[in-house]
Amino acid sequence: MSTSELDVKNAFDMESKRLSIKAPEIRYDKQGDTPDEERVQKAMLHFVKDFGTAAAAYLDSCIHCGMCAEACHYYVATGDPKYTPIWKLEPFKQAYKREASPFAFFYRKFGLKKKVTVEELEEWQHLIYDSCTVCGRCSLICPMGIDIASLVSTARHGMFKAGLVPHELHAVAERAEIDGSPLGVTPKVFEERLEWMEDEHDVEINLNKDKADILVVISSIEIQKYPAAFAATAKVLNAVGESWTYRSDGFEATNFGLLSGNLDWQRDISMRIIDAAVKVGAKMVLLPECGHAYMALRWMGANMYGKPLPFKVRHVSEYLADVLNSGKLKVKKVDKSVTFHDPCQISRRGGATQAPRDILKHLGVDLRELPNGGDYNWCCGGGGGVVTIHRADELRYKVFKLKMDQVEATEAETLLSSCANCRQNFDDCQNHYDWKYTADSLLELVADNLQEEKA
Ligand code: SF4
Ligand code: SF4
Repeated sequence: MSTSELDVKNAFDMESKRLSIKAPEIRYDKQGDTPDEERVQKAMLHFVKDFGTAAAAYLDSCIHCGMCAEACHYYVATGDPKYTPIWKLEPFKQAYKREASPFAFFYRKFGLKKKVTVEELEEWQHLIYDSCTVCGRCSLICPMGIDIASLVSTARHGMFKAGLVPHELHAVAERAEIDGSPLGVTPKVFEERLEWMEDEHDVEINLNKDKADILVVISSIEIQKYPAAFAATAKVLNAVGESWTYRSDGFEATNFGLLSGNLDWQRDISMRIIDAAVKVGAKMVLLPECGHAYMALRWMGANMYGKPLPFKVRHVSEYLADVLNSGKLKVKKVDKSVTFHDPCQISRRGGATQAPRDILKHLGVDLRELPNGGDYNWCCGGGGGVVTIHRADELRYKVFKLKMDQVEATEAETLLSSCANCRQNFDDCQNHYDWKYTADSLLELVADNLQEEKA
């Protein structure tokens, strides 16, 4: 093992059960030295600029039924009305009413809607970053079809422009923009880690091929914390006989530009993958077990590219379901009871809810669905960048109790998921509660149970 390999390993070993920057001694939740009045102006300008007719229609159509409250794990776990999803959009709504609605003139003239203050925006930072995982459960349940989760993401754009992003989330997003990875995984570290896994697992892992049908990407959470994902992916693709490659110039799947609210960074990060895929002539980009990576490239990639993507985008669970269903890959039966945690961005918001169930059927496990499993699954509480924010830890642990109770009720032997970010939140909460369940990887379960002969 080289010195760099050891550095990577030690960096991980010194971390807590989740990969994040350390808790800052002094928090800087306001970026730069912009005067407060200017921050408010920037935030309002971008809230208004980002209004499409759909967003305006959403904000006008709320009938205040309160159903979204019962859908949100933060409200359910705390009973605190400030965590009602639609309330999280209040400053956004105030900006719209004062500046862009049909009655904006009257709202301003008669003072019907007050100007938003920087103190309110700072308070709001807690609501749209620390206590929203953008899980979309509220969006699914709202009878008026208001997509609150998407509006929270849109509101984050204005907050970023105003320099009002939580310290750690801004730091990892900035590192991703500058170094190409939120955890500082440079191409050299990526290559060393890959070679290490190749030796350790005795599997051929393709790197930097000039041409390939499939470009495979990985998340830095996997590179640092769950590197067996390298080998598991390679075993599956080699068994199917695919033409595939990783690339040092486009390997990072996570997109903290998206999570922090910086559209320019989101685009830059997506373009690294898109450019690498175009360069090798890929017909498919295979995304790893990472929920928000799926949202960023599968559902937003074409917007970043400015035209349709010239390749398919598949989450690894979709790919596995395809090759198992078509008989190109065969697996052995696994005699155990399993429960599955659906990552919000892949199942509820991504639409790939059936794929893991198809895979588990091929594996022949005794699947014990979580109550409200599938599209209505409760979020693990670590998505949307929340797991990086240390001041949100106590709330995150409180919310996780919902998930613990659900998993325990199944009495399953094994807990699986298909998102490394969910898994690291499970690990951290497992450590906090000294809980008996560890969230394992669905992909690794498949790779560990491949039938020897090629179909
Ligand atoms: S569920 Fe929809 S309509 Fe009801 S309060 Fe929430 S946002 Fe408004
Ligand atoms: S997206 Fe999820 S976390 Fe955010 S307000 Fe809606 S239900 Fe709550």
